[in-house]
Amino acid sequence: METQVSNFIRSIVAGDMAAGKNNGKVITRFPPEPNGYLHIGHAKSICLNFGLAEEFNGHCNLRFDDTNPSKEEQEYVDSIMADVRWLGFEWGDRLYYASDYFGRLYDWAVQLIKQGKAYVCDLSFEEMRQYRGTLTEAGKESPYRTRSVEENIDLFERMRKGEFPDGSKTLRAKIDMRSGNINMRDPVMYRSKHEEHHRTGNKWCIYPMYDYAHGQSDSIEGVTHSICTLEYEDHRPLYDWYLDELGIHHPQQIEFARLNLSHTVVSKRKLLRLVNEGYVSGWNDPRMPTLAGIRRRGYTPEAIRNFCERVGVGKKESLVDMALLEFCVREHLNKTAPRVMAVLRPFKVVITNYPDQEEYLDAINNPEDPDAGTRKVPFSKVLYIEQDDFMENPPKQFFRLAPGREVRLRYAYFIKCENVVKDDHGEITEIHCTYDPATRGGDAPDGRKVKATLHWVSAQHAIDAEVRLYDTLFTKEEPDDVEEGKDFTDYINPKSLEIRNGCKIEPSLKDAKHGDRFQFERLGYFCVDAVDSKPGSPVFNRTVTLKDEWAKIQKML
Ligand code: ATP
Ligand code: MG
Repeated sequence: METQVSNFIRSIVAGDMAAGKNNGKVITRFPPEPNGYLHIGHAKSICLNFGLAEEFNGHCNLRFDDTNPSKEEQEYVDSIMADVRWLGFEWGDRLYYASDYFGRLYDWAVQLIKQGKAYVCDLSFEEMRQYRGTLTEAGKESPYRTRSVEENIDLFERMRKGEFPDGSKTLRAKIDMRSGNINMRDPVMYRSKHEEHHRTGNKWCIYPMYDYAHGQSDSIEGVTHSICTLEYEDHRPLYDWYLDELGIHHPQQIEFARLNLSHTVVSKRKLLRLVNEGYVSGWNDPRMPTLAGIRRRGYTPEAIRNFCERVGVGKKESLVDMALLEFCVREHLNKTAPRVMAVLRPFKVVITNYPDQEEYLDAINNPEDPDAGTRKVPFSKVLYIEQDDFMENPPKQFFRLAPGREVRLRYAYFIKCENVVKDDHGEITEIHCTYDPATRGGDAPDGRKVKATLHWVSAQHAIDAEVRLYDTLFTKEEPDDVEEGKDFTDYINPKSLEIRNGCKIEPSLKDAKHGDRFQFERLGYFCVDAVDSKPGSPVFNRTVTLKDEWAKIQKML
């Protein structure tokens, strides 16, 4: 990575290594719940966990926290694995599932019952809520709290066998209903759920709660540093309690602030709503902050890793500006994406003094990369330029093509606009120009200057393409910050997608493959859409514009 920003977790791990803690080993894990696709926030956690393991010669496990049975999980499991690999990380043979630990978690629950530390409770979820108390008010003990060990063992066993309907009984930890920390007020460990699980099938009809499963799963895997987001800080005493009561390996939990990105949402629940309610075309819609979406949009793993490093790791929640992510993408693509010419809103130009022939001009593939070489671009009598690059009656500050004005065509010639052709409605249909053969590929021998260089495409050689331009998915900087009576979907940007048909692309892109990335000169970075692009009818996504809001970005770094 290029930039190392303050990362207090790195310092803690380095300190532990220096002190010879954990026998000098570092084991981390990335523990997604397979209930949605990964998003840019997860990328931060992935980079942190896998990154630390790499840096300190340790291991990072991929563990699916699949304690909650649900039908669609396999699709999510597959997408999560693909996304982690795409980001550039590998778990080797360290692929785990919390569901693999159901047997051990059950045995540990029995152990806690025997230690008098857990009991079967018949309160409904609603009653439990009433008994729980509030932040300022102590909770009330459940009338079932004093059941004997024998009765608890018997009832829990019968819960496992499926004798009780869902919602009628839970297993709860016996801790402290008066605790200032609500998580410690006899939290539920198990509830009945007569539901099939994507991995264990119908073997279980009771499932452990996340809080009961998480710490022990880390413990089973010998995790040394259990890194999680701040909202789990209040759960740490509970995780500690379970591990201490069970007397098993105790990972060190360290919390960090989650990543929030401007103009988007990073909550799987909200992203699922965008998908289900049809605001986007799917989890991989290029406007989504999911890894599947931004990959399709053309973002690179290198750029995302660099972004995660740049935003650093801290203890305070903050909102990172989307411009920083775009900056990182631009920075990487600037070095790696070949530059080509494409015209998104074509205007026909006829070079009246050019012979009926074609010729091939040398174009530089990437001035930032000397190894990228050159290519041949066809030039002919009829060309397309961008509509924006011509004005019939230009204001003073407009330096591009206009009647009587001379400009340079990139890699080609100086051309001068002689007149325009209009249709019956007075709309310009063609621009007629002359060219100066002496200016081929460079400057005028007589030293005369032009004030603009335009991109262009030869009409007879151009490829027709669809180009999709994107804006932020939300107009509001913080769509999570919902005003009264509103829903976050009210802030969706109606102009987040603009489709341009009939764009003209230079022919060197004829064989471009799904996911290939390019800079369209003067227009931005684009990639071949991996879903809708077909041979003969290519579709390009604009990954990011060329514009840099430097002042803004400098402030963020
Ligand atoms: P969501 O709120 O989107 O549902 P989650 O935390 O429930 O996210 P998990 O699948 O449980 O999703 O997350 C896996 C890991 O990724 C957890 O360790 C979690 O802390 C981390 N993570 C999730 N969101 C972010 C984020 N925005 N920034 C950093 N880490 C995150
Ligand atoms: Mg979660």
